[in-house]
Amino acid sequence: MNKLIGIDLGGTTIKFAILTEYGDIQQKWSITTDISNDGKNIVPNIIDSINHHLKLYGLTAEDFIGIGMGSPGTIDREHGTVKGAYNLNLASLQPVKEKIEAGTKIPFFIDNDANVAALGERWKGAGEGASDVVFITLGTGVGGGIIADGHLIHGKVGAAGEIGHLNVNPEGYTCTCGNQGCLETVASATGIVHLARDFSEEFSGESQLKWLIDDGQEVTAKTIFDSAKAGDSLARLVVDKFCYYLGLGCSQIANILNPETIVIGGGVSAAGDILLQGVLKYFSKFAFPQVRNSTKLKIAQLGNDAGVIGAASLIKIQ
Ligand code: ZN
Repeated sequence: MNKLIGIDLGGTTIKFAILTEYGDIQQKWSITTDISNDGKNIVPNIIDSINHHLKLYGLTAEDFIGIGMGSPGTIDREHGTVKGAYNLNLASLQPVKEKIEAGTKIPFFIDNDANVAALGERWKGAGEGASDVVFITLGTGVGGGIIADGHLIHGKVGAAGEIGHLNVNPEGYTCTCGNQGCLETVASATGIVHLARDFSEEFSGESQLKWLIDDGQEVTAKTIFDSAKAGDSLARLVVDKFCYYLGLGCSQIANILNPETIVIGGGVSAAGDILLQGVLKYFSKFAFPQVRNSTKLKIAQLGNDAGVIGAASLIKIQ
């Protein structure tokens, strides 16, 4: 009885892993998220998949300390419920813990997906086990998780660490939350494309990126970062602005929390060094001196595994 199961519940796939108690992945697999029937198939599918794989590997419930899961939506950690996970079609309250414990006979723990990814990077990735780590995930939107003094910060209603809604430009683009200028309106995969389109209109120099935009071709965050790496002058301006906003956001977070590390993850972080160096430039400009000299910025290391590893760590920290 020393193994862990980590589950990363996402809008398109559900990732599973069996891990040692030290967080090393022994087996992993995934299934498609079935969001039909108001998402009501999701929990039964998770139970079936776990039971099927335990049988496949010759394991039983007694081999496991617990199951941990990261989920979108509003999580009640104590009761193990999820609601408002709209990308799963789960609008109504789901008693996830009760059902999964009944279906697998293994204790179950749950937290928000960004918090869980933060725990994963802190345990086995760029956070290197530090007691103060902030994780920022740059995807379609911007999410975050804050670990301070060794504990995840949840806040009054679980809304702590909503780094994507940090205001970096009060006159900026309108956000899905209704405000203007939230970090995720500019420092996300969709935000950088928005910036590129706006900059392109004003730009009169030579630029392959401008040509692509004017020609109506699909432009993604990857196109923009790749163009900047290749020296495209418009792309460099756009990336610099993106890094300005992210660096400003990181400096504000760090001025409050002075974490050992701010880990930047999510799909956009694949841009790598050009992103990190750009953010560092503005972070250094805006951070308070003692913070600037002690808080490190790093790119995430675990990629897609951060969710399952962090989810498994929920079991250990209970
Ligand atoms: Zn917002």
